[in-house]
Amino acid sequence: MKRILVTGGAGFIGSHLCERLLNDGHEVICLDNYFTGSRHNIVHLLHNPRFELVRHDVITPFMAEVDEIYNLACPASPVHYQFNAIKTIKTSVMGAINMLGLAKRTRATILQASTSEVYGDPHVHPQPESYWGNVNPIGIRSCYDEGKRCAETLFMDYHRQNHVKIKIIRIFNTYGPRMHPQDGRVVSNFIIQALKGNDITIYGDGSQTRSFQYVDDLVEAMIRMMATPESFTGPVNTGNPNEFTILRLAQMVIELTGSASKIVHLPLPSDDPKQRQPDISLAKAALGGWEPKIQLEEGLKETIEYFRTKS
Ligand code: NAD
Ligand code: UDP
Repeated sequence: MKRILVTGGAGFIGSHLCERLLNDGHEVICLDNYFTGSRHNIVHLLHNPRFELVRHDVITPFMAEVDEIYNLACPASPVHYQFNAIKTIKTSVMGAINMLGLAKRTRATILQASTSEVYGDPHVHPQPESYWGNVNPIGIRSCYDEGKRCAETLFMDYHRQNHVKIKIIRIFNTYGPRMHPQDGRVVSNFIIQALKGNDITIYGDGSQTRSFQYVDDLVEAMIRMMATPESFTGPVNTGNPNEFTILRLAQMVIELTGSASKIVHLPLPSDDPKQRQPDISLAKAALGGWEPKIQLEEGLKETIEYFRTKS
């Protein structure tokens, strides 16, 4: 049994990770400032004596004796991370420094939830880890993209300079139950719009692509990444390489919900990446043959069911 800290543990991905770690028999400290997370996401874990919930902001240091740290604290949706851009970059950078400091002192292994956004609007397709990206440093997405890029730099420097045991994963668009209903991400937006019979809002012409990973596949990859040999740091892409246009996603959501909603087109936000697909060769090789098991239709059905019961 290990004592494991999950920052951002009350969020969408964090809550699934906490659940899995408890099921695997570990002690879990879930740390969150509830900016985009909620106690509702982890209320079913509160009775477990191996689960501890702490209200804390990662931009200030945190003290605890832990064996492993999963650093997820950071708003992830464009709507939420642009709401207070300065706070977003502080969370990524100061949060990384504080958690790396904790890992250094406790000799814990620390995993960073990085993102496909480090590739920006990519000129290489699909994106391998060796690609350095095409990121606008001064745009409206920069607080998130550059914050996460700087966090990766800090992880590598703490590793090289202080021998901190680090793991970096680059997460591609992930969806599933417990996504925040107002976070504006495309899967939750379309499902909620379809269930309410509202217009489905496609930004631009809908030809931009994304590759959608179901949350259970991601959690499995995170656990396997943490268990890799100490010499292996990543970064490793985790995502589902099946790529869809946003228009196709809208059509699938309409079909699966049986909704009468109509598709409308709204302006495309600036710096919106045109295409995104992970190259997962490294993940397959380094994470013991890991690959996503849940394809989009199956995952959408689960997520639709979740939002149906919530509404
Ligand atoms: P989320 O918004 O549901 O979760 C983030 C959690 O971090 C929330 O519970 C929030 O309250 C908490 N948090 C934010 N700022 C904090 C702070 N200063 N101190 C403490 N807690 C704070 O988003 P998510 O989709 O679960 O994302 C989790 C992590 O995975 C994020 O780091 C995100 O960048 C990364 N990621 C997610 C995706 C995706 O598609 N979901 C893709 C790439 C990377
Ligand atoms: N998008 C859309 N309608 C929405 C929300 C998003 O067409 O209601 C588009 C958005 O412009 C982007 C894609 O869907 O091209 C994915 O957006 P999301 O915010 O989910 O994630 P990210 O852009 O960070 O990949």
